[in-house]
Amino acid sequence: MAGRVIVVGSVNVDLVVRAPRLPSPGETVTGGAYERHHGGKGGNQAVAAARLGRPTLFVAAIGDDDFGATAHAALVAEGVDVFGVEELPRQATGIAVILVGENGENLIAVASGANAHLTPDFVRGRLERLGPLRGDVVLLCNEIPQETVREALRVARAAGATTVFNPAPAAGITRETIGLADIITPNRGELSTLLGTSRPGSIVKGAAGLLAHRNSPGVRQAVIVTLGRQGAMLVRLDESNHPSAEEIPAPAVAAIDTTGAGDAFNGALAVALAAGRTIEEACRWAVTAGALATTRVGAREGMPTADALLATLGLPEDAMAWHAAAPAEDAPKGVEHKDTSAVEALVDRMLGSLPDAD
Ligand code: ADP
Repeated sequence: MAGRVIVVGSVNVDLVVRAPRLPSPGETVTGGAYERHHGGKGGNQAVAAARLGRPTLFVAAIGDDDFGATAHAALVAEGVDVFGVEELPRQATGIAVILVGENGENLIAVASGANAHLTPDFVRGRLERLGPLRGDVVLLCNEIPQETVREALRVARAAGATTVFNPAPAAGITRETIGLADIITPNRGELSTLLGTSRPGSIVKGAAGLLAHRNSPGVRQAVIVTLGRQGAMLVRLDESNHPSAEEIPAPAVAAIDTTGAGDAFNGALAVALAAGRTIEEACRWAVTAGALATTRVGAREGMPTADALLATLGLPEDAMAWHAAAPAEDAPKGVEHKDTSAVEALVDRMLGSLPDAD
């Protein structure tokens, strides 16, 4: 029986000014254009999974401000079950202030706000409400406190879930934390940071060094390194403890905006694993979802639908026939679980024609 995707992560509102050029310290550059986008890796990953039509539950913290209310509404509109999204009194919703200059170069400052107050206790309580998690996939990013990431991974694993940790951003992550994950999904830069080097040398060797072997703690199943247009490298240990690596190429696409590609990758990976696919197949879905996300502007706006993913993978329509796996009667509900593919396609088209996801 196919499982659920449970995302524990961050919510941000991205405030973007596209300026004629980036200002230097103390300087004001006028003539910019303003955009607001829904973001945060957690929110983006939840939307990526929900767009593929699987029951997707989200645990996160927002502030009691206007941004929190619109962020919440945007998640609900995408079909994400927000049963675990908590509005924290006297906190601001996380924001990212992004300046984009003429060549796409950017300056980004983040105020984590409520994300920094997502506590281990709160996350444990929400995950426990979901009952046994056998067959489910719990997906974490690192835009929430380390102790919360660890507790979520620990509780999820004890309840029988497969745990996927997207170590982004990678600063401050300990071996203990990655040792609680079944799968981690760093990009090249994040792999270097995890290894504590400026250049990882061989990706396969570096990734293999993060896997658990001979009583030394580490990632249990696989390290999947995302490699931009080259797709991903799936690294595991074989029965004799030798690293085995498999290249998973991404389809060639006309990429126009790579923001959110990693989030699309992780959302699709979690969906495929929750649907009981093998890890290789899940990687193929993930690289394809990541590639499709780069063909549209915006992070959330660019997340592919199940139809688009099926078509690109060349799979028959029933390959994602999720109605065969309705959630348990007593599953917590923020929004109704039902076949929302027609609505999703419509929302997708509407969002595609708007400059903002609001
Ligand atoms: P991040 O966005 O986290 O830095 P990557 O750049 O590795 O991660 O991208 C994640 C995934 O998105 C890749 O594994 C790949 O599948 C897809 N992707 C990213 N950029 C491209 C591209 N230019 N062409 C095709 N696929 C891409």
